Amino acid sequence: MSNCSRINAVSQIAKINNPVPGTASEVKFDYFAEDVFNEETMQKYLPKDICVKLQHTVTENTPLDPAIAADVARAMKEWALDRGATHFTHWFQPLTGSTAEKHDSFLEIKNGTAIMAFSGKNLIVGEPDASSFPSGGLRSTFEARGYTAWDPTSPAFIKRHANGATLCIPTAFCSYTGEALDKKTPLMRSLQALKKSVARLMKCFNRTGEAIAITLGPEQEYFLIDKKFYLNRPDLLQCGRTLFGVVPAKHQQLDDHYFGSIKPRILNFMTELEVELWKLGIPAKTRHNEAAPAQFEIAPIFEELNLAVDHNMLIMEMIRQLAERHGLVALLHEKPFAGVNGSGKHNNWSISYGNDNLLDPGDNPHQNAIFLTVLAAIIRAVDMHSDLLRSATASAGNDHRLGANEAPPAIISIFLGDQLNEIIDQIEKGGKSASKKAGSMKIGVDALVPLPKDATDRNRTSPFAFTGNKFEFRGPGSSQSCAGACVIINTIVAESMDKISSELETFAPEEFNTKLQTLLQKIIKKHKKIIFNGDNYSREWEEEAARRKLPNLRTTPEALKPLLKKENIELCRKYGVFSETEMRSRYEVFLSEYNRRIRIEGELALEIAGNVILPVVQEELNAVLDTLDKSIRTGISVPMLKDNAAKLASDVNALIAECSNMENALAQDSSAIIDGMNKLRTIVDSLEIQVDDRRWPLPKYREMLFIY
Ligand code: ADP
Ligand code: MG
Repeated sequence: MSNCSRINAVSQIAKINNPVPGTASEVKFDYFAEDVFNEETMQKYLPKDICVKLQHTVTENTPLDPAIAADVARAMKEWALDRGATHFTHWFQPLTGSTAEKHDSFLEIKNGTAIMAFSGKNLIVGEPDASSFPSGGLRSTFEARGYTAWDPTSPAFIKRHANGATLCIPTAFCSYTGEALDKKTPLMRSLQALKKSVARLMKCFNRTGEAIAITLGPEQEYFLIDKKFYLNRPDLLQCGRTLFGVVPAKHQQLDDHYFGSIKPRILNFMTELEVELWKLGIPAKTRHNEAAPAQFEIAPIFEELNLAVDHNMLIMEMIRQLAERHGLVALLHEKPFAGVNGSGKHNNWSISYGNDNLLDPGDNPHQNAIFLTVLAAIIRAVDMHSDLLRSATASAGNDHRLGANEAPPAIISIFLGDQLNEIIDQIEKGGKSASKKAGSMKIGVDALVPLPKDATDRNRTSPFAFTGNKFEFRGPGSSQSCAGACVIINTIVAESMDKISSELETFAPEEFNTKLQTLLQKIIKKHKKIIFNGDNYSREWEEEAARRKLPNLRTTPEALKPLLKKENIELCRKYGVFSETEMRSRYEVFLSEYNRRIRIEGELALEIAGNVILPVVQEELNAVLDTLDKSIRTGISVPMLKDNAAKLASDVNALIAECSNMENALAQDSSAIIDGMNKLRTIVDSLEIQVDDRRWPLPKYREMLFIY
């Protein structure tokens, strides 16, 4: 045993017996959704007529008939008891960005006897004390009550722990006065708005009455490190990211981790994760190693957006919980390690109408016309509101990623790919082909040349990329809820579609196609400045984007400002997504969260530098000076030793000075604190490579990222 717990952690991890390949037992997927109160379960536990009514509420998003609430509650309780649950909770998503739950047992005492009870009211509303959730002034503590209201469109599910289980009811969370205190409420409002606009647009193309679904498939990136390292890193424990640490010689330069063979210990974790997710009805589909060492990704099959958002929240929670079971810790922070890639969350977004995906070009002129109109609506929306879209990705963690040449820049632009770009070009030039390959096209009359899907997927630097049959928004951070970004996409696209519909509605049938062509031409001319197919990481793009007057909002405080812009407030108000007070409250909440996080990081950086690093480097300096002393006494001269000692002494001195600067910075604003942290890091990292490896207290990058 060494007296350095970091060194001991390495030898303990070395003793872990990694799982060896075994024989899989027969898999049938028959446990898929076994912990979900879905349609199949409802049919088992509810009379047919009530089932039909409830199903209607779910698919048509109509208000729940209060008369059936008691029956539904009874059925849900019976099912939950059969599955071993003792408690229920209204599961909601406050503005902290995570999920919240307060458990109540089914226990009630009736005439001295314990019974299991769960009423219709228990199901429909909850009244948790809301005073401790961020509200940005929406609710003062004297009116602390918040209300949780059942969202029947996302099915109830059962969450298990070691010795019991809890029935979770997805809910929206609002204040006494009806203002949204959560992420789900505005999301549902935006979905409603967008669906209305889609129906209106489709009517212009003579299609009515078909089912509309907004779809989302979020890819989730995360890191896994051994828990023994984690426990020795106060920065990871408290901030989720390392505040210090030297990037090792080998990190991700060789691209040998991305899609590499998955280590047995990790695969064991992933398999268990997927089984647990499948039980919850979450269609986990893809797993792979990501670009950075110890970085991974999971992606589910896309689902209806509201459900997909709930499922992503559960995926994050399950990743965290199950990692622990494997002696690992999952890091969902956007930037746990400097110098290697951070983690994002790619929001794959589309709209389906009846059996068609509206972002699939399709193979006939009519479908192509719809596709191009929807595309034009999105181009217009993103160009007009790229600032709002950027604001939805703003967070302290994400500031480390955006624009750091590993993730899209803070400048929002759209990638279309060569083929689609040529078509757009052609429309802009009035049907005359820019190149022979594409031919000339009349919208609604000619069919598009089929778009090869692969060719559209290769620009990984774009924040908002068309990927064959959907848009992929790559700005959001790995720990953020998908809701924020989706609320904005839904709202701005709804507005854009309405604008287009209001013109289409005036076209006579015989001139519809020609007028549509002219309209799309006009839109593309006006908004094509948002399209960029080149390298988003390049310096030239930053300059070009500035010439195009595209916003470049580099930091969270800047990126949140669009929330206060009059036209943005008006847009969200008009679509019933946020009231003005709700929008301002979000600005307050997100900005103060940002400042708090930076402050926590600053305080912790000071604490680690002063209490963990300083004593160790002083010991080191002592040792070096002793050696130097001996060399002088014995007359055995080691001339370089003196230089080393001098450099170490000067860095120790600088460390003390930076600690004191940091104390001053903590009395100032976030940008002073960030500056102080950067300076502290430079000096601590310089010391890390001078101090005897056996003495260095913090697990090193080369250990955390490679030993697992
Ligand atoms: P890649 O890493 O190449 O971008 P992945 O397979 O990791 O692709 O993830 C693609 C995601 O896009 C998946 O979650 C998938 O379900 C989702 N997706 C595919 N089609 C649609 C669609 N029409 N609407 C929303 N999401 C979609
Ligand atoms: Mg992927």
